Amino acid sequence: MPTFGNAQLKLLERLCNVIAISGDEGEVRKIVLEEVKPYADEVKVDALGNVLATKFGRAKNRTRPRAPFRVMLDAHMDEVGFMIVADDGEGLYRFETIGGMDVRGLVGKQVFVGKERTPAVIGARPVHLMDADERTKKVPLDALRIDVGPSGKAKPGDRAGFATRFRRVGQSIMSKSIDDRIGVATLIELFRQALPDIDLCAAFSVQEEIGLRGAKVAAQYFNPDLAIAIDSTPANDLPLHDGSENMTYNTKLGFGPAIYIADGSTLHDPRLVRFLQETAEAEGIPYQFRQPGGGGTDSGAIQRSLAGIPTVSVSVPHRYTHSPISISRVEDWKNTINLLHAALKRVTPQLIAIR
Ligand SMILES: [Zn+2]
Repeated sequence: MPTFGNAQLKLLERLCNVIAISGDEGEVRKIVLEEVKPYADEVKVDALGNVLATKFGRAKNRTRPRAPFRVMLDAHMDEVGFMIVADDGEGLYRFETIGGMDVRGLVGKQVFVGKERTPAVIGARPVHLMDADERTKKVPLDALRIDVGPSGKAKPGDRAGFATRFRRVGQSIMSKSIDDRIGVATLIELFRQALPDIDLCAAFSVQEEIGLRGAKVAAQYFNPDLAIAIDSTPANDLPLHDGSENMTYNTKLGFGPAIYIADGSTLHDPRLVRFLQETAEAEGIPYQFRQPGGGGTDSGAIQRSLAGIPTVSVSVPHRYTHSPISISRVEDWKNTINLLHAALKRVTPQLIAIR
C-alpha cells in the first residue's frame, strides 16, 4: 500500500488553501508542477493550462520488451467561484457564478477577490428591509454584490473565491475546494509512487466546472488506452427530516471510494467498473457505488474523445458540494489512494482487449 500520513494531508491543505476558479488555475498549477516535475519523464502545460505529465513504463527504457500500455488519470484543478463582471462604484461589484452554485447560500459569505486576494463580502439587502413577498422568494443573483469597500479595487474578469481555510477536525477534512483538490492530491501521490509497467499519463485539467473543457484536450494529447477520472462527489447522506430512510444518498461518508456506474455525462465502462470492484475486494479495500443520477466528471469528455476511450470515475465523497465548506473523511481519501494504486498495479491490456 502507498504511504499515507501527515505529508499527504499537508499537501492537500496547501492545495485547498489556494484559489483556482475555472480559467484561472495558476495557483494550483504552480504547486502541481513543483510536485510532479521531479518524478516525470515529460511535463507540458498546454494552451488551455492543463498540466500533462507522463511517466514512461519500462518498455520505453527497454528493460521490458512490450509495447507500453497507456493509462490516463485525470483530476481537475479548478473550483467553483465567482467572476466580477461590472463595477457599480463605491467598491460594489456585480458578478457571475462560475460553476453550479446555490445562490441562496451566498449572502454574507467572505470571499477573496483577484490575484491580490482582496478580502470582500457577498452582500444583499437585509431581511428586515424586505417585504413579506420578497422574503419567501429566492434572492436573484443580480440582487447580490461583491463588496470590497471603497478602498478595494477589482476589475471585470477578476475571479473571487470563498475565503474559507482548510481544517482537519478529527477524522474530517473541511475545505472550500475538496472538489477537486482531493483528486489533485491523489493524482500527485499516485504519480510519485507509480509502478513501472505502464505509461502513466497524468492530466491535471482546467475548466471542469464549466463543462469538462480541459480534459477533452488532455485526452486528445495523451491518446490513452484507458482513463480514470478522479473527483469528489456529493454525499447526500443526512437523515431525512420526516424520519424515513434516506434512499437518495448518492454516496455516504465513511463507506470508501465511490466507483461510478453511470452519471449525467457517462455510462462508465463496465469492464473497468468490474475491475475496480474486483481490485477492492481482492485487496480488502472498502468501496461503494455512486448512485446513478445527475452530475458528472471529466470522464464525460474523455470517453468521447478521439475514437472513444474506455473510462471510469472514482470519487472521494464529500458533503455540502459547491458551498463555502465541504466535509470529507480522511479514511475515504486514504482508501481511494489505496484502491487506485492497487488498480494501477493490476491493470493489463487484456482488461480492455475484448468488448
Ligand atoms: Zn469536481
